[in-house]
Amino acid sequence: MLVAIVGPMFAGKTTELIRLVERQVIAGRRAIVFKPTIDDRYDPDAVAAHNGAKYKAVRVAPDESGVGAIKELSASYQVVAVDEVQFFPPSLAEVLNELADEKLVVAAGLNLDYRGQPFETTMRIMAYADKVVSLTAVCTVCGRPATRTQRLAPGPRIYVGGAGLYEARCRRHHSVPG
Ligand SMILES: [Zn+2]
Repeated sequence: MLVAIVGPMFAGKTTELIRLVERQVIAGRRAIVFKPTIDDRYDPDAVAAHNGAKYKAVRVAPDESGVGAIKELSASYQVVAVDEVQFFPPSLAEVLNELADEKLVVAAGLNLDYRGQPFETTMRIMAYADKVVSLTAVCTVCGRPATRTQRLAPGPRIYVGGAGLYEARCRRHHSVPG
């Protein structure tokens, strides 16, 4: 079974990933959590949610070697979770789809980049998923459900940061800087 948790920043994607993994661990199932090395927000060895919840994670490179490592290291686990999937190459989707034949796989990531363009890897995982959990944040301008991530300054597509550099916005209040 493959569960995709998608949405903008500040929607609680990591919190939901941790919740799904913890229920499995409480039931005695062996779980492993991965995250990309690029993401060092808050705690280098844990998957950290913006609300402070944490879970121990294995950090792998967000490239083909990292995707290979996820496949290999998952072998003896019943539950496999990957956070921030948008940083990995699209081949991650095929690997998770394969793992999901035997295991519960939970994948969390951004749906759209700050320009409002889909992330290829997230898109592919959503297509393979048995269940898609689409989370919204709260628009910082109007308080309506936010499905987009607003960047407050221009820069590269992948730039890790939390509050201060990004805000959640609804469709109406999202704009591309620069
Ligand atoms: Zn709004």
